[in-house]
Amino acid sequence: MKKYIIAIDGPAASGKSTTAKRLAKKLKYIYIDTGAMYRACALNALWENIDLKDIEALQKMLSKIDIKIKYSENGNRIYLNGKDVTERIREADITKLSSEIAVIGIVREKMVELQRKIGENGGVIMDGRDIGTVVFPNADFKFFMTADVKTRAKRRWKEAKEKGENLSLEKIEKEIEWRDKNDSSRDIAPLRKADDAIEIDTSKLSIEEQVNLILSYIKGREE
Ligand code: C5P
Repeated sequence: MKKYIIAIDGPAASGKSTTAKRLAKKLKYIYIDTGAMYRACALNALWENIDLKDIEALQKMLSKIDIKIKYSENGNRIYLNGKDVTERIREADITKLSSEIAVIGIVREKMVELQRKIGENGGVIMDGRDIGTVVFPNADFKFFMTADVKTRAKRRWKEAKEKGENLSLEKIEKEIEWRDKNDSSRDIAPLRKADDAIEIDTSKLSIEEQVNLILSYIKGREE
């Protein structure tokens, strides 16, 4: 079977990463969470106390940034400058900062360059906001996952609860709405569905159903 490049885009908590992880396991592909890369960038800026308006300082940071992904079926680990930051980058301050840093052109250029290098040989499932539109406009498959904001907020709330965090549903919904708006309205590579992407509304789908639906498109092409 040909080693495809599979792009999955969509807003926060639309089901991208859970689906992509399971698909990668089934297809024996590597899974790249590009959001984690923007999050690592944001953490680096925080560590170095960089003002996001200071393009020179950002440029310097990007010229030496070292983001590594250690692949594992049980969940990739993200390393920033040699340090495992997998859990740290999921915290609320970095969630917000990642969306703020992702509007900056030189940051996106660097991330896209890294993503293309990782994915160019195929056998990869990449999720993000601009994979089908900018990173791999010629991807073999493009999916755009959506879900209504209430469903997405509930998913995040449940995930947090399972980790022992008690967050307010209302606060999560507000944060998601803010990020949707920030990610969709930026000038460079805004969140949008590529014209040739298949849209999947996951509001009423189980994870199993989402995975099987995507698999049916991929297998359909093989036959
Ligand atoms: O996917 P995740 O929610 O972890 O992404 C964090 C942030 O990184 C997003 O809100 C978005 O601003 C940015 N991002 C992006 N392009 C991508 C992936 C993520 O701009 N391909």
